[in-house]
Amino acid sequence: MSLIELSAYQLTQQIKNKKSSCREIVDEFLERIDDVEERVKAFVTVLPEEARRRADLLDKRLQSGEDIGPLGGVPVAVKDLLCTRGLRTTCSSRMLENFVAPYDAHVVERLAADGAITIGKANMDEFAMGSSTENSAFFPTRNPWDLGRVPGGSSGGSTAAVAALEAPLALGSDTGGSIRQPAAYCGCVGMKPTYGLVSRYGLIAFASSLDQIGPVTNDVRDAALLLQTIAGHDRRDTTSINRPLPDYLSALTGDIKGLRVGVPREFFAQGVEGYVSDAVRKAIDKLCELGAEAVEVSMPTTEYALATYYIIAPSEASSNLARYDGVQYGLRRHEPGDDIIAMLSKTRAAGFGHEVQHRILIGTHALSSGFYDAYYSKAQKVRTLIRRDFEKAFEQCDVLATPTAPTVAFELGAKTDDPFAMKLADVCTIPVNMAGLPAISLPCGLHDGLPIGLQLIGNLLDESTILRAAHAYEQATEWHKQRAELTKK
Ligand code: GLN
Repeated sequence: MSLIELSAYQLTQQIKNKKSSCREIVDEFLERIDDVEERVKAFVTVLPEEARRRADLLDKRLQSGEDIGPLGGVPVAVKDLLCTRGLRTTCSSRMLENFVAPYDAHVVERLAADGAITIGKANMDEFAMGSSTENSAFFPTRNPWDLGRVPGGSSGGSTAAVAALEAPLALGSDTGGSIRQPAAYCGCVGMKPTYGLVSRYGLIAFASSLDQIGPVTNDVRDAALLLQTIAGHDRRDTTSINRPLPDYLSALTGDIKGLRVGVPREFFAQGVEGYVSDAVRKAIDKLCELGAEAVEVSMPTTEYALATYYIIAPSEASSNLARYDGVQYGLRRHEPGDDIIAMLSKTRAAGFGHEVQHRILIGTHALSSGFYDAYYSKAQKVRTLIRRDFEKAFEQCDVLATPTAPTVAFELGAKTDDPFAMKLADVCTIPVNMAGLPAISLPCGLHDGLPIGLQLIGNLLDESTILRAAHAYEQATEWHKQRAELTKK
């Protein structure tokens, strides 16, 4: 078996047992990137020199008997909205095309401290707004399972890189589904942790009350491994939770006897295709065969989540993106004689793509005087009701099982002219962000040769239980062993 086919966990063992050097591993992944990247287009920036230099350094440390950390020598693709010191961090936007971050994001520091090697910066929808990675200002990323289809988004580059074996691990961010939905489309494992578990310091903000960073991997154990590295308190993010961390790897016991799996009926409506509900219901049966018990639950506010999200997220975005004014960050457009207003509007017209401009307009409107109460403040109230629905559901069960996305990956261009259809791709993931809960997506079937995702939602800070359930399911099935063929179907 070649090194690129191994999981991150297996790679760390390989290094520990001195069967491979960090340099050999990095070289194999860089070679893979050379072979397939032209077809997949997962990366905005590949970092061959930096990665090789770092691998050599880690090898030297190994030779002198040092411990290089739990991710020692493992390459990672980092979504291009996480700041990396001295390297370009673009957010896949013209606005930040030449922005070089002056510091590392907290998660990037954590990766380095645990021995991981950043191999490249992954493509995404501009400012993480989108569900297909077609909103990247540079190029769309392709789904390794069918190069004519989208990988999902906004973390489509991170996910395609992992599915195409260009990196064993990736970091994404998830505001309304941007880790889980592409994971479902690309047959990967994707996890959004509890809001506050992973520091957002150095994450370029989209909607700060919803954004969360999380792992994208090819199996559940790797998700636990990567979560262990990135989770934990950081005083530079005021929403960061200060509590001792559990050991996520040791949660993977394989035992789910007596686990109560809630099945919220509203998540099987809203345009969810029959083949998706069938695959997810079969997965729930499998969990029951393994000793879990299924309980029907009802969450009546689910149908309002999408509309509420599209008030709250754009409102926060309009405020967060006000900083791109041509003065401090990124692009500046002005002609001699322009006043500040002219410079500002030229800069923002040239720097932001259509979807980003659209959201800034919606958000500015929703926050403006006279409309604030009707939109923003009402949306916050509905958000509370959504959270209460989850609280009630978790009185009856330990995890919730739902589809991750209502369909399999769609064709490139199929929804670019229909923003509403595009937004429906997130109906099953958005409620989870509204409530701040952790959730994981993992492969549970194929339809026409394309992956289907199962979403397991956990109670606040109960990452261990969803990891345990996901792992038990994975061990009892073969879906995670299927690999993308990198062809056009
Ligand atoms: N697709 C959703 C949106 O466009 C969610 C994006 C995300 O999670 N970053 O807003």
